[in-house]
Amino acid sequence: MSTLLSGEIGRSLANSSMIRKMFEAGAELRKQYGAANVYDFSLGNPDVPAPEAVKKALREIAEQSDRAFALGYMPNGGYPECRRKLAEYMTREQGVPVPENRVIASCGAAGGLNALFRAVLEPGDEVMCPSPYFVEYGFYAANFQGVLNPVPTRPGTFALDCAAIEAAITPKTRVMLINSPNNPTGQIYTREELGALGAVLERASRKFGRVIYLVADEPYRYLNYDGVEIPSVFSVYDASVVVGSFSKTLSLAGERAGYLAVNPNLADGDELMNGLIMTTRILGFVNAPAVAQQILMRSTEASIDLDIYRRRRNLMAEILTAAGIEFMLPKGAFYFFPKSPLADERIFVDKLLHQRILAVPGRGFGLAGYFRLAFCVDEKIIAASAESFKNAVK
Ligand code: PLP
Repeated sequence: MSTLLSGEIGRSLANSSMIRKMFEAGAELRKQYGAANVYDFSLGNPDVPAPEAVKKALREIAEQSDRAFALGYMPNGGYPECRRKLAEYMTREQGVPVPENRVIASCGAAGGLNALFRAVLEPGDEVMCPSPYFVEYGFYAANFQGVLNPVPTRPGTFALDCAAIEAAITPKTRVMLINSPNNPTGQIYTREELGALGAVLERASRKFGRVIYLVADEPYRYLNYDGVEIPSVFSVYDASVVVGSFSKTLSLAGERAGYLAVNPNLADGDELMNGLIMTTRILGFVNAPAVAQQILMRSTEASIDLDIYRRRRNLMAEILTAAGIEFMLPKGAFYFFPKSPLADERIFVDKLLHQRILAVPGRGFGLAGYFRLAFCVDEKIIAASAESFKNAVK
């Protein structure tokens, strides 16, 4: 028991040993075999170059940084010009007119989710999410004494199971948090699924007499490989919020360029906006980074070269097929979530490690028997991993 840490953080550190083990094993393998001979698919860190517009924006920002307040504080919700650009972007992306007073800049999608949970959760409130899910959700809810309540998706397809969701809603449910395109499965929810989910939430909100928010965490919205529709939650449910970022779209993950948008149809939505601006301030974010916002003011119409990720996805699919590993082809994001050939995926992940392949066991995402591979890795490295996958299956 640590005397330096809170009990909760001490326990969380002890429990994160799986990811730490992978990180340490990767560093050791790289030392031994050289970086080019280690197939590290453990991390979702965008590696493709940022678009030219970002470079140009950075030069302009540098040139103008001698102006008074050029990099100073601005209103907590962001520069008015940034909010205007974000509103235009959201209007294009969501297919629903989004006014600028319904959008604020956030410190990435992660910062946006924390600002939102701070604004709407009472201690003990539940944040429901389909599982498997992005592991940080549990921490984000717990930051504000919330409790994560994962509900399994349909086996194999990872589609929403709205009947299971309805059965799992309790008087404490405050947020239904979805992520599409999904980390870790690459699934994209359809209009029918979202329509059914909206109806479930309408019924539950009426039954329990409180607003249940539908929150769409969409940092992967642009990473959509087959052009399938990613329906807007704004069109299916009034009490909805979109949280997103340019971490992946512009390869800006370290710059913390994100946003929160509240459905224009939410009655009294201005009250929620005021709450979000306040929580952005009092959580110590104060505001989204000035440079990130100034980049966005110039680059929301740009994007990375999606073909790079698409080629990698297709190559990885060929390699897994050739190795006899079962998977659902991801429609979006940059992850595969294949079925483990062994019932205990930790044993298979160890076998992969012996072949210098780094993957993450599915139980880290709330679903044992699967493992996650992130393909933000150079195509040459993906190609070179083919024999190692075959050997691990043998
Ligand atoms: N949500 C999901 C599902 C993610 O996978 C990530 C990052 O990987 C985030 C949120 C956080 O992204 P951001 O960099 O926008 O904070």
